[in-house]
Amino acid sequence: MELWFSERHTQNVKFSIRVERQLYSGQSEFQRIDVFDSREFGRFLTLDGYLMLTEKDEFIYHEMMTHVPMAVHPDPRKILVIGGGDGGVIRELTRYEKIERIDMVEIDPLVVEVSKKYLPQTACRLEDPRVHIYYEDGLRFIRSVHEEYDLIIVDCSDPGGPGEGLFTKEFYGSCYKALKDDGIMVNQHESPFYEEDAMTMQRVHKRIVGSFPISRVYQVHVPTFPAGHWLFGFASKKYHPVRDLDAVKWNMFGLSTRYYTTQLHAGAFALPYYVEEMLKHV
Ligand code: SAM
Repeated sequence: MELWFSERHTQNVKFSIRVERQLYSGQSEFQRIDVFDSREFGRFLTLDGYLMLTEKDEFIYHEMMTHVPMAVHPDPRKILVIGGGDGGVIRELTRYEKIERIDMVEIDPLVVEVSKKYLPQTACRLEDPRVHIYYEDGLRFIRSVHEEYDLIIVDCSDPGGPGEGLFTKEFYGSCYKALKDDGIMVNQHESPFYEEDAMTMQRVHKRIVGSFPISRVYQVHVPTFPAGHWLFGFASKKYHPVRDLDAVKWNMFGLSTRYYTTQLHAGAFALPYYVEEMLKHV
């Protein structure tokens, strides 16, 4: 008998992956956690039935979330990751020698435990001595932080579950306060294509625009996400994501990537016309 994982993307659209076998299923205090293995996408993690990452396409999401701000900020040393318990963003960040400290605030210890056991491709650098993990709600954590970080990466699940508070005006305002005076925040910004996702995306964008002087959106193509088209937010106190991109310096690091290039970085901020229109009318 064939086993399929299906995720509803809209009332009328489902996305399915044929599953070879289920590797893990458990319930934490916050959510249901499942790990499956598949021929096409390798292992994949779902939370409350929603796909978070697959081994085959996670590099797209994690490289673009990490290297875009790292190529703009001239001297990022202290970084905060909110969510990100699968370790993908941490893996990319730890490739930079100049980073001194990475704080990761993940609400659910079981996501980290399960990722270490079943997703070694992403959860492979969580033991780096520069990484400090706090098991706490991201909103609660950030409320008491002042001008500490060069960069904040918000790698959380979609609104609706425990990530709800990480899409609020209060949260973005607190991120602004928690950043140094030239700090950058990058966040997952939902998808523009289907109506329901697009409405969430516009709401999120409006809140960020109200909290930061510079706020732009860039796009990535993640085959297993709704419509395969995903947006990230780049919000900053000082730096422009394209004008302040230092391509020469970033390329001197000599990091090998599979999706990110400094040419793609600049191009990712050129959005389809319908998305520009949506963002204009928030
Ligand atoms: N790439 C994914 C996606 O599909 O958008 C997101 C990665 S997933 C690992 C997001 C993580 O955020 C989960 O491990 C979840 O437990 C964590 N998370 C959700 N709400 C949170 C909160 N309020 N504070 C901290 N972490 C949270």
